[in-house]
Amino acid sequence: MTKLTYRFQEGKKEWKDLLGGKGANLCEMTNLDLPVPNGFIISTDACKNYLAQEEKTLSKGLIAEINFQVKELETLTNKSFGIGLNPLLVSVRSGAKYSMPGMMDTILNLGLNDETVYALAEITQNKDFAFQCYCRFIQMFADVVYNIPAENFGAIPTGTKEKSDWENIISNYQKIFARATGRKFPQDAFEQLQIAVEAVFSSWNNQRAKVYRRIHNISDNLGTAVTIQQMVFGNYSENSGTGVMFTRNPATGEKGVYGEYLLKAQGEDIVAGIKTPEPICTLQEKMPDVYAELIEIAMQLEKHYCDMQDVEFTIEAGKLYMLQTRNGKRTPQAAVAIAYDLMKEGVISEETLINRLDEEMIAQLMHPSFTNDAKKKAAIVRGLPASPGAAVGQVAFTAKAAKEMSDKGSQVILVRNETSPEDIEGMSVSEAIVTARGGMTSHAAVVARGMGVCCVVGCEDLQVDEEKGVANFTNGILKTGDFISVDGSSGRIYLGQLALNEAETSAVLEKVLKICDAHATMAVYGNAETPREIKEALLKGAKGIGLARTEHMFFQKERLKMMRELILADDRSRMDEALVYIKEKQKSDFRQMYQILGKLPCTIRLLDPPLHEFLPQDRSELRAIAKELNLNGQEVIAKVKSLAEVNPMLGLRGVRLGITCPEIYQMQVAAIMEAALEISAQEKITITPHIMIPLVGTVKEFRIVKDSCQEVINGLFEKTGTNLPFEIGTMIEIPRACLIADQLAAVADFFSFGTNDLTQLTYGYSRDDAHKFLPTYTHQEILPSDPFQHLDQEGVGKLMRFASENGKQEKESLSVGVCGEVGGDPASIAFIQTLPVDYVSCSPFRIPNARLACAKAAIANKKQLIKL
Ligand code: ADP
Ligand code: MG
Ligand code: MG
Repeated sequence: MTKLTYRFQEGKKEWKDLLGGKGANLCEMTNLDLPVPNGFIISTDACKNYLAQEEKTLSKGLIAEINFQVKELETLTNKSFGIGLNPLLVSVRSGAKYSMPGMMDTILNLGLNDETVYALAEITQNKDFAFQCYCRFIQMFADVVYNIPAENFGAIPTGTKEKSDWENIISNYQKIFARATGRKFPQDAFEQLQIAVEAVFSSWNNQRAKVYRRIHNISDNLGTAVTIQQMVFGNYSENSGTGVMFTRNPATGEKGVYGEYLLKAQGEDIVAGIKTPEPICTLQEKMPDVYAELIEIAMQLEKHYCDMQDVEFTIEAGKLYMLQTRNGKRTPQAAVAIAYDLMKEGVISEETLINRLDEEMIAQLMHPSFTNDAKKKAAIVRGLPASPGAAVGQVAFTAKAAKEMSDKGSQVILVRNETSPEDIEGMSVSEAIVTARGGMTSHAAVVARGMGVCCVVGCEDLQVDEEKGVANFTNGILKTGDFISVDGSSGRIYLGQLALNEAETSAVLEKVLKICDAHATMAVYGNAETPREIKEALLKGAKGIGLARTEHMFFQKERLKMMRELILADDRSRMDEALVYIKEKQKSDFRQMYQILGKLPCTIRLLDPPLHEFLPQDRSELRAIAKELNLNGQEVIAKVKSLAEVNPMLGLRGVRLGITCPEIYQMQVAAIMEAALEISAQEKITITPHIMIPLVGTVKEFRIVKDSCQEVINGLFEKTGTNLPFEIGTMIEIPRACLIADQLAAVADFFSFGTNDLTQLTYGYSRDDAHKFLPTYTHQEILPSDPFQHLDQEGVGKLMRFASENGKQEKESLSVGVCGEVGGDPASIAFIQTLPVDYVSCSPFRIPNARLACAKAAIANKKQLIKL
């Protein structure tokens, strides 16, 4: 039979599957000789067994094991469970593989009954303490096991009372318990323990745990472990207390411990956000030795786990105990900063740093903030900046209202006194979360940071009446639906809708991405053509431009007119006139491009779309154009009609235009080369233009167009008596081009995969119509995902592998890039890494992500190669 329970001495941190995160780490801390109260863990296997049963009871075998472990604990602690002069009290703690804050419930002070409470009072010489513990236990037991609201019992009594008063209170508690549950409060400690364990097991399937798992993509099949641990008492005396601490700031990542504690308090008091705790630094004055020990342990744990730790501790009569450690949850901003600092400190390698980052972090790091102007407005209240970012939305005072408003399409800001796990769904749909009470480690703060949602807590000037749906602040009142703006970075809350700034790449992110570049073996280029986009691409770290689409340069009014003139012109001289005009415009665009880019590579694609895309189809508009261009309306309409195509995607476009009306490509090539010559001379650099011919499917068409470009270039060199290196290459976007890649490589200087068209043509799915059936296809799992977003590795990827390998084999110097949408997609990049591809090119905003993805892909690929 498999073992179902483990002493703390038996486990280790790697056993999270079996012992849960909390349990495994308690074992690890125990084996590091840290001051951890003794205990044992019931494995997740036991939980899974329990949940799989028809009738939910603990198995005989498990009960026997638990009883055996309790005996061991009695021996170790020299106390006895449920009887005797020195009672053993325990906590019963849940803990799954992944930490789920506030999702599962913990019971403290278990083992107290009408007899042991007196023994505890006697041995501690503190009856107020002993009875208070008993009250807490009854209340928690009722809450966790029987779902009886803690409020039914009223606030836990404090202070000094007569023995008879305490007896009355306890008897009253037990009455409330009996009334609500229909059973007497169990006096047998073993029975208490069994009931508690069953409750923790069952809580795996409670609603809020399920919702949390759904939101965070955690499997429902893991089960939770249960930790049974000897109690230590933070509520014992004035020099007792309980606290939580991060080894670094979880909101910003700044170095330095960060946490809160409460003296004379127990467990949940601090997390519930009911009393406002003290910042950890004040513990240094109050208990210097404890503080020093705590810091030392925390630092040791951080080094040991190679990551920022979130620890829970209790001080009992001046002695420190560690109750939990785990890798702390943090904002995306903090995640990047911490990983970078740990690498700098030599705790983790650059590879580990890179692998700890994800796209979501980068996306959120580029979160918006309020404009400086907007921030000049006076804030209505200020709280603690628990999770950074900026958000604008309408106030909701309950999670339910937040959900309803959000379902109707509103941007919602959830404003509450404090949040609880029941609020999780409402929180997840909110743009920001604001609470009147609680500290930086309150439920709201922890959950919001996990979700990357902007959050402000502890707004003491805010009085929230959730029932009435109003909140008062010093100078006014907020009602449901009012617009407010929340700054999670400063903790300020404003009335109305403040203007938002686009996020800027942070300085650390910049450094981290540089490290990524050093590990990557593929470069990241941008798809851009306007000066603004090109600058943006460079700012985001592009090493060049992989795709500049010349047709995008025609969309200005005057240029469009000349383009139309060119297409519709009825005589040669007018056509030439239009060509001259357009050439000058293009040349000035290319000059600007080269001026920004200098020697950085830039691949310019010659005109690609069908010509009729430059013309309207509407008759009256065509007549207007005819009039403007001084042409015959009837003839224009006839010409446009003749240009119309049944399948424009498969029609007269790309290289086919280059063949049928060579003047356009010739004009473009002249513009490119003249601009490059001029800027090269002006800047005293050597620009190497990369001219790309789209939609090539045969060697001959490529050759014809290439020769005609070459002729223009030769003529230009002769005329000006100058010279410049240049490359003429091809897009690979037709399956046939992939199949004849070796022949194409013999004549082309470079390849660039246009994965959008290649996907369209490989599947035979029109990019423009695929939305009509792709959702059904992915829904029915006919396709794993949209192949225009995530490269189809099996089919399109196979063609790409064939083409890139054959191309490079034919010509080693052939450079190969990818410039479709998938060039910015991490999953696709991971695949492209396995091909002989030199760079990926994507939209500017996706470049930081692509840089990270390229680094990760290179690291993964290296590991793969080492394994082989
Ligand atoms: P959660 O997963 O919600 O943090 P925990 O199991 O960590 O639940 O318990 C919550 C708090 O209860 C702990 O932070 C600690 O303060 C207190 N606690 C748990 N076990 C003990 C114990 N054996 N002695 C003293 N306090 C305890
Ligand atoms: Mg808790
Ligand atoms: Mg905890």
